[in-house]
Amino acid sequence: MPSSASLPPTGSSRYHSGAYGRQTEQFIDGVGILRRDGRIVILTGAGISKESGLDTFRDEGGLWSKVRIEDVATYEAYQRDPERVLEFYNERWRGMASGNIRPNAAHDALARLERDWPDEVVLVTQNIDNLHGKAGSKSLIHMHGEMAKARCDRCQHISPFAEDLTLSLSCPSCKKIGAMRPHVVWFGEMPLEMERIYAALGTCDLFVSIGTSGNVYPAAGFVQEASAMAGAHTLELNLEPSDGASAFAEARYGPATVLVPAFVDQMLSEGWEAAGA
Ligand SMILES: [Zn+2]
Repeated sequence: MPSSASLPPTGSSRYHSGAYGRQTEQFIDGVGILRRDGRIVILTGAGISKESGLDTFRDEGGLWSKVRIEDVATYEAYQRDPERVLEFYNERWRGMASGNIRPNAAHDALARLERDWPDEVVLVTQNIDNLHGKAGSKSLIHMHGEMAKARCDRCQHISPFAEDLTLSLSCPSCKKIGAMRPHVVWFGEMPLEMERIYAALGTCDLFVSIGTSGNVYPAAGFVQEASAMAGAHTLELNLEPSDGASAFAEARYGPATVLVPAFVDQMLSEGWEAAGA
């Protein structure tokens, strides 16, 4: 039940448990316990990188309103016009590598949570930027790939690259020329590392979704997976209610750079409340 969905972004919620805040394993009204441990899976989407100045893909005015997906972000487009597709990603990559794009307070806070939380924190991102890694997150799964890497379309070898992708590059492994493509998941392709993601979801105690639209599957189904399979508590942090908001037990709305550091501060100082535990 979205009990705190209507609370203001920085207002109180069930995480702010007042007099109970400093106690751990304390029953509150018989509905939940405060925990300072537990496995956490966090899913992030474009909303967390937007405040770093990166173009989002799906928003109004975002990239997909300026270029057609079927021209630049499918395998068929790559086969038809590889130069155009490579140039599209080269442009994105140059924008990201320009130095103005840095991790923001939300990326930094999640790296801090991973470092200081006593239990496992797995960060799954739909973003193809490298901002979580730059902020210091290590237990990180890029389910839609990474713009900072190239992959050989023949042998699937993955390599980092620091220059434009062109048809004259050769694969560092199989030496094939002209087959290096961005290591990103295009429309119609399978997201990466799904087994590892579902294993983490199936054993987590808390699932947090940050800055996602809630309409891109399979990621949009992770909240049901975590609550149904693992009995996890679920929380949405987003600028506004996502398409999947009703599936979350709790929600807070506001800018990621405000909500996420506050959430991490609270987790590390007070713990979190597992509803119905
Ligand atoms: Zn190769």
